[in-house]
Amino acid sequence: MVRKALLQELVVNKKISVFIPMKNESSTISLLFNRVLPVLEKTLLDYEIIVVNDGSTDNTLDLLIEYQKTINNLVIIDLSRNFGKEAALYAGFANALGNCVIAIDADLQDPPELILQMIRYWQEGYEIVTAVREERIHDSFIKKSTANLFYKLINRISDTRFEPNAGDYRLLDRVAVDAFLSLDERVRFNKGLFSWLGFREKFVYHSREPRSAGTTKWSYWKLIRFSLDGITSFSVFPLKIWTFIGLLTSLSAFVYAIYYFIRTMIFGIDVHGYPSLLLFMLFFSGLQMIGIGVLGEYIGRLFIETKRRPLYLIRNIYRNINKSS
Ligand code: UDP
Ligand code: MG
Repeated sequence: MVRKALLQELVVNKKISVFIPMKNESSTISLLFNRVLPVLEKTLLDYEIIVVNDGSTDNTLDLLIEYQKTINNLVIIDLSRNFGKEAALYAGFANALGNCVIAIDADLQDPPELILQMIRYWQEGYEIVTAVREERIHDSFIKKSTANLFYKLINRISDTRFEPNAGDYRLLDRVAVDAFLSLDERVRFNKGLFSWLGFREKFVYHSREPRSAGTTKWSYWKLIRFSLDGITSFSVFPLKIWTFIGLLTSLSAFVYAIYYFIRTMIFGIDVHGYPSLLLFMLFFSGLQMIGIGVLGEYIGRLFIETKRRPLYLIRNIYRNINKSS
């Protein structure tokens, strides 16, 4: 109710929310605020900054509370533990009150100055403005080529379009935010969810900076898991293809049986062929394992979805209620 009343009040005074997820970002906070705040002042719009502390184990939260003394419109949402960036984003959007919400990473890899351009497009009527990194000059060759491969694959097998170099840096109008929040799934591949929403979308391009400080939270293993989440959330192609692989292998077995039958009729039986037998056995049992593995991926997803656990839990929300901005 309170949220509704607050939202209604915003119809008159346009307000923007900036959302920043943070996990162990104590080394980037001061750099971040030094760059973001001047940009927000320049917009001449009312704003709030929402930081979700996603289970930091360093002093990120203490620093934020300290900053809140000088930044009036800073809202800190402290999660009970680390829930991952995708859940943190939901927590941020769910608690944002602005007419539009801009999500930006804490590490300044995406230039905050772009916010001005994003807001201009929003004012022109676009409901989603997505930042696209022009090139990944600071990424390693392996990271670049695996990312390319992933996007080629997923765009082939999914109906939802995935913009290759778009990250989570984007602006969403209130209608898009509410639509995003209405998507109720637990395993959230945000990039896909955003493009699934539709709406009028505009891309803005920028080059990606190296991390300002601190380290990336993405290991290769995590990236592989993440890609699998993306594929299994937005495509059932890997499930369906097994029917065809199965048909094809049985068909070839059938053809091989006929060939073998005729050969035996003409040349008699020979005991050769042990290696080929072993090879076939290995190949097809491998194939079956993969098939079962793919089923497992989807069943695992169903299992997680049916439990309907909350996406995140909040320990505390820090707001400056007395000093309204
Ligand atoms: N982050 C988070 N929870 C996590 C991992 C990351 O809130 O479990 C935040 C992190 O603090 C940063 C943003 O998500 O603001 C992007 O993380 P990172 O820079 O490590 O990812 P990359 O830029 O390498 O994709
Ligand atoms: Mg980063």
